Amino acid sequence: MVENQDIFSNGMKLPVMEEFYTLQGEGYNMGKAAYFVRIGGCDVGCSWCDSKESWNESLFPPVDVNLIIENIRRSGADTVVVTGGEPSLYPLDYFTEKLVSYGIITMVETSGAHELTGKWDWICLSPKKYSPPKGSIYNKVNELKVIIKNKSDIEWAELNSELVSSKVHLFLQPEWSNIPKIMPVLTEYIMNTPKWRMSLQSHKYMGIP
Ligand code: SF4
Repeated sequence: MVENQDIFSNGMKLPVMEEFYTLQGEGYNMGKAAYFVRIGGCDVGCSWCDSKESWNESLFPPVDVNLIIENIRRSGADTVVVTGGEPSLYPLDYFTEKLVSYGIITMVETSGAHELTGKWDWICLSPKKYSPPKGSIYNKVNELKVIIKNKSDIEWAELNSELVSSKVHLFLQPEWSNIPKIMPVLTEYIMNTPKWRMSLQSHKYMGIP
């Protein structure tokens, strides 16, 4: 739950959990070099969340976004991926417009649980049943990536795929802790429903962040 929203209300500071230059591990842009900015704070509450430490934004220092931008420019990255936590909790117009002005490609990974602000070249929506996306995001997304822990999550994925344009790239991603059980189910499902592609957390296999 974000308690210190006031500090972050003008978009000049963000509670940064970590920032690092690596390769995107998941989804359509898998393998692309990108500077990751992980923002703390999430009120979605997925039971299988592998970064529960991200939920409480007060654990992370408010960082001036100009400093983050400086770090990004110094890294030489041409692409930024903003992730969380849940980035849609924060006003991201200033941050992303400044990045765009420097010619940096802006990407975001969001559950869409709140109205997403910012100037984005790529929006990856990862909708969560517990706190469904705001309807306005569906016509802005480039990629839909649904995490599948159990067979029943496939219904949720299908429901969301009906709300996005036919140009959106569709991915099903097995939930990491349940891979042995869910992988055969997903593989068969995708073979029978080829509009979907498999997304794997390849960074975990590569041993990179
Ligand atoms: S939306 Fe992401 S950070 Fe938030 S609880 Fe779910 S998996 Fe964790």
